[in-house]
Amino acid sequence: MSIRLNQLRTRLLEEQQQLQQHIAHVLAGQPSLDYQQLHLKLQQLPLPRWPELLLHWHTPELRGPSKRLEAVQAALSQMEIGLYGICCDCENRIEAKRLERDPAEQRCAQCRFSG
Ligand SMILES: [Zn+2]
Repeated sequence: MSIRLNQLRTRLLEEQQQLQQHIAHVLAGQPSLDYQQLHLKLQQLPLPRWPELLLHWHTPELRGPSKRLEAVQAALSQMEIGLYGICCDCENRIEAKRLERDPAEQRCAQCRFSG
């Protein structure tokens, strides 16, 4: 694995951890029983399965971080299978500059701005 890829991977792992903490914090601060149950459920689930559960909850506080967690995890699994940095629309390489700015970027500049 190249140094650059390694750095991006470290950034993604750090962000994943921050998002996990943020989501747990939001849930812990909710008085409703539903949220408390969701919080308990999440603690029993492995992190890669959080987004599928969280995205059923259409609450604004959770929606953003859950979507982001999903994107971060997608990028990490692409790294594992050697498909990181490939545009999900046109399958060209995503520009290095875009990946530096957002390591979870899924589209090349052309597809991002034309779509
Ligand atoms: Zn593209």
